[in-house]
Amino acid sequence: MAKIMIVDDAAFMRKVIKQMLMELGHEIVAEAANGVEAITIYERIKPDLITLDITMPEMNGIEVAKELRKINPKVLIIMCSAMGQKTMIIEAIQAGAKDFVVKPIQKDRLHTAVSKALS
Ligand SMILES: [Mg+2]
Repeated sequence: MAKIMIVDDAAFMRKVIKQMLMELGHEIVAEAANGVEAITIYERIKPDLITLDITMPEMNGIEVAKELRKINPKVLIIMCSAMGQKTMIIEAIQAGAKDFVVKPIQKDRLHTAVSKALS
């Protein structure tokens, strides 16, 4: 079981991801609707793992991942985004994401990504 923070600008998406992760036995310790909020909460709570959306206002997920990695080089990030293009996935991985789960999210796929990141 991991303490997870969910970052997505869409409340519905946060709800879906939260439900899936809770069914998998994880604890959702925080939610953030944008990157600035995500970084502030991360520094305070230090969750074990973060699910991170890419398309968000103010700061996109790639920028957020880079900032989080400056705070903690070992930060565990799983990108959850509709943007499944190869270049975007490569950029996400280079920014420090451990995995990339494409929306609409499949529970099994999310489960695999989280388990692998935590192992
Ligand atoms: Mg979004």
